[in-house]
Amino acid sequence: QESHEKHAYQSDVARLRKIVINSLYSHRDVFLRELISNANDALEKLRLTSLTEPVVLSGAEEMNITIKAVQDEEGAGRLIITDTGIGMTPEELKTNLGTLAKSGTSDFLSKAESDTTGTGNLIGAFGLGFYSSFLVADRVQVASLAAKSSKNPNPAQYVFSSGADENSFDIYADPRGNTLGRGTEITLFLKGDAIEYLNEKTITDLVNKHSSFSTAFPIYLASKRVEFILDQEAEDEAAAQEKKPDDEGTTKVDIDEDEAVIEDVTEEVEEPKKTPKTKQIEVDEWIRLNSQPPIWMRDPKTISDEEYESFYQVTFKDWQKPLAWYHFQGDSGSGVSFRSIIYVPSHLDDNYWQNPLQSVTKDIRLLVKRVFITSDLGEDALPKWANWVKVVVDAEDLPLNVSREMLQNNAFLKQLKGIILRRLLQLLDRIQKEDPAKWEKVQEAYGNVFKLGAVEDHKNREKLVQLVRFATNQRNSTGLDEYLENKKQGQSQIFYLADMGKSPEELAKSVFIEKLHARGYEVLLLGDPLDEVFITNIRRWKKIGFQDVAKAGLKFGDEDEAEGEAAELAAQTERYKPLIEWLRKEVREKGAARDVIISNRLVISSCAIVADESGYTANLEKLISSSHA
Ligand code: ADP
Ligand code: MG
Repeated sequence: QESHEKHAYQSDVARLRKIVINSLYSHRDVFLRELISNANDALEKLRLTSLTEPVVLSGAEEMNITIKAVQDEEGAGRLIITDTGIGMTPEELKTNLGTLAKSGTSDFLSKAESDTTGTGNLIGAFGLGFYSSFLVADRVQVASLAAKSSKNPNPAQYVFSSGADENSFDIYADPRGNTLGRGTEITLFLKGDAIEYLNEKTITDLVNKHSSFSTAFPIYLASKRVEFILDQEAEDEAAAQEKKPDDEGTTKVDIDEDEAVIEDVTEEVEEPKKTPKTKQIEVDEWIRLNSQPPIWMRDPKTISDEEYESFYQVTFKDWQKPLAWYHFQGDSGSGVSFRSIIYVPSHLDDNYWQNPLQSVTKDIRLLVKRVFITSDLGEDALPKWANWVKVVVDAEDLPLNVSREMLQNNAFLKQLKGIILRRLLQLLDRIQKEDPAKWEKVQEAYGNVFKLGAVEDHKNREKLVQLVRFATNQRNSTGLDEYLENKKQGQSQIFYLADMGKSPEELAKSVFIEKLHARGYEVLLLGDPLDEVFITNIRRWKKIGFQDVAKAGLKFGDEDEAEGEAAELAAQTERYKPLIEWLRKEVREKGAARDVIISNRLVISSCAIVADESGYTANLEKLISSSHA
């Protein structure tokens, strides 16, 4: 055949397929949700395109997903998943299914390859997408007919075909012609040990568990129903033999229009004359699997954690479970009622900190009356600190055909940003107060994000500061409010020591801490560059200023003690005068320091170099020079 082409997989694809096939056996259920999620994406693309180019809708009336199980004579099985979505041209079949476009895939692959535990933990729930088909199939065939468009007025149906053990795939014109009308049909030739996926109950359960709530498009399963029909041949035979039929288990079939009603009439038959013979046939009927409303429309009390997690993983294509979520309904100030779920992922994107001030939020999925509109609300939809949040919002009172341009000026959208931030902060605050174990995980992933937020987001500064935690010389973690509760009587400063890159343990050993620690003062230990940026920006908390203990200006609150110490200090200065003067001369000549004084800061160490009150600390100098680089 002239249009038949063979292509080698891109090398990453070959690696991914190998990992999928080898290490995910116990997670192979995921294949179905991945394929349904792709079908949903294709249908959403179709609907969005149709707003500007209605011709794409021709070819197939309904927008839906169908699943059909076929058992071959020899016991082999095929599972066929079809959608009437946007479809793929032969070029798209090649690029979309033969190459990997996902960012971070290479990194993921090397991690996955070195995961020798065999539990598939790392990749267990990763959105492996199309390749997860090979978890259950020896061979996968994808027939696709792209939607008609002005650019592609006469699309033709093509097939992508690949075996699980092959390093190449074939693309050829579908010998059956354009059978699909529009969309994509995926045929999985099931492995011998995956025949269970032909079972209607298995399929129904899987769809209920992972997919029923993630798509608003109907999913239908072709179900075999047993029907009894009159068997003319059998009846003729019986009549010819004029033999009394067995009256045990005899069934009578009433044909009522087109519906067959089966009754057991054994008892009533006293004198069976010519009981009609029946014959069983199997017919296909389509059963709707996802008749439940989508998850965000349901009552939170009826939704399990697992459902929330699955929905998140499929919708936002994250292989890890979310840390937390908040499901609520509300009314925007402008009279738009909506329902929403806000998710906190368990991790930030790998490149989150690479572009610290750029904010593009791609994961606020806006729907109107269950119909997906967009997930791209443009730049600065949210401040940078919050742009990792994953949100589904379904608004009731917006016009269905809102365009992106209209959205830009929509009052609801402007309010939405504030609503999301407020709810997110509520959720975080609740975790902080109620769930210490989860809060620790939130801190691990987002601790620095809150510091950034407090600096960047003036409107929410108060609340963000209350989420920020620091290690101190007295405990692993404290917030500023707790710090103030713990301060000593008369203490008028919040003490901190900042040294970029040092761990709290290292900082705690610093000579600057000694005296304060011995006297029972708490000192924040700041080792992250953002810590000092935070402190310099916030400047004070509850009217109390921050004091760098490595700088001049340090005040102790316990005045009595301090008075005695001042006298002691004066006496000491007098006693060591010749030494101090000599040292002063030496260090000034060498330019090593501005002054030498006797101090009461230290307990064990004999000397320390202190920055000027107004001068930059060594740490800030490092930061400034690195940001200028
Ligand atoms: P992802 O969905 O994360 O992009 P997949 O491996 O699941 O990754 O799919 C790869 C690409 O193949 C999709 O982005 C899409 O372009 C295309 N694709 C897969 N399934 C379908 C489908 N049913 N209809 C149209 N395009 C599809
Ligand atoms: Mg996918």
